[in-house]
Amino acid sequence: MKTIFVTGGAGYIGSHTVLLLLESGYRVKIYDNLSNSHLEAVKRIERLSGKSVEFIEGDIRDTDRVANALQGSSAVIHFAGVKAVGESVSNPLKYYDNNVLGTIELLKAMKQSEVKKMIFSSSASIYGNPQYLPIDEQHPINPTNPYGRSKFMLEQILRDIYDTNRGYSFGILRYFNPIGAHPSGEIGEDPQGIPNNLLPFITQVASGKLDKLRVFGNDYDTPDGTGVRDYIHVMDLAEGHLRMLEKLDDNSFDIYNLGTGRGYSVLQIIKTFEKVNGINIPYEIVSRRAGDVPVSYADVSKAQKELGWRAKRGLEDMCKDAWRWQLKNPKGYRSSM
Ligand code: NAD
Ligand code: UDP
Repeated sequence: MKTIFVTGGAGYIGSHTVLLLLESGYRVKIYDNLSNSHLEAVKRIERLSGKSVEFIEGDIRDTDRVANALQGSSAVIHFAGVKAVGESVSNPLKYYDNNVLGTIELLKAMKQSEVKKMIFSSSASIYGNPQYLPIDEQHPINPTNPYGRSKFMLEQILRDIYDTNRGYSFGILRYFNPIGAHPSGEIGEDPQGIPNNLLPFITQVASGKLDKLRVFGNDYDTPDGTGVRDYIHVMDLAEGHLRMLEKLDDNSFDIYNLGTGRGYSVLQIIKTFEKVNGINIPYEIVSRRAGDVPVSYADVSKAQKELGWRAKRGLEDMCKDAWRWQLKNPKGYRSSM
């Protein structure tokens, strides 16, 4: 049985992927500093899967600790990192330190332990303002903030390592907008403080924690004037990692977009959420958020063709599952403390 080393495995996307790995017969070691997650997520993954996970609390910048923990692993899925675009503008060093330096230390530890396979969480934000749609993997790269730049720097670093060292295998996954939760409502997204992203904001308005949603602009060149994004169910995203893991061989470098290939506007999201959950979402239109692109959605044909993967869950499932998680866990993982 293969052991997969999952950095950031207690986090949002990591926890759903770990659950799927366990259900698919892999052994898993989670390495996470819990800076944006809770041990409770790991307990719930164990409960849902009926299997145990080895959890190591630590920072990816602690090279020796990572190298020790990596022993016996056959591949790394690297989710650990910080991800708030706005914060990356106000505190760029935090992003270069945690994401870029952190990944470099992880790569050094992998070299020491002779683990040569990695799946890396990249982001559609590296494309910047789309020059054409849908966005394929050949689209020019032009990140507009330090977060996006940290992801692109890392893609280049991985490419350089691949080019000069035999036997490495990297799978770079550029996520579009992951939302939703496991259908059990036991694991999901648990943002700290006031959420930045649309769906967690909507679920907190639905629960009465926040009074209304602010829609950032209705004067974009889109059918209803609000921003359009490619939302993907986190379980579909997790399945993409499984397909990628199966494809990693002893010498490969691949990049894939993971999205649905469809864009929905903010107003479409609000309407769908209201319809499937029978809840009213009060909102007001405010001015555009600085740095937002009008429209973004993926060309996912490469992942379909080469990974045999495509997103199966629709927007209604995403909205229902996000709401079930919020209802069962009004204070996120803190609800069970
Ligand atoms: P998350 O914050 O829920 O998970 C990240 C996990 O990494 C957390 O558990 C956190 O405690 C851990 N972590 C952070 N820094 C660490 C460090 N230095 N050492 C050890 N652990 C550390 O985020 P997520 O939404 O699950 O995102 C996972 C990855 O996917 C991130 O790299 C993120 O940039 C990328 N990504 C996320 C999105 C999104 O919208 N959620 C979109 C594109 C890409
Ligand atoms: N959005 C919004 N109000 C919010 C949060 C987001 O109108 O409180 C809009 C945002 O302008 C964008 C879409 O919802 O058009 C998705 O935003 P999110 O931050 O979730 O993802 P990203 O902008 O990073 O793609």
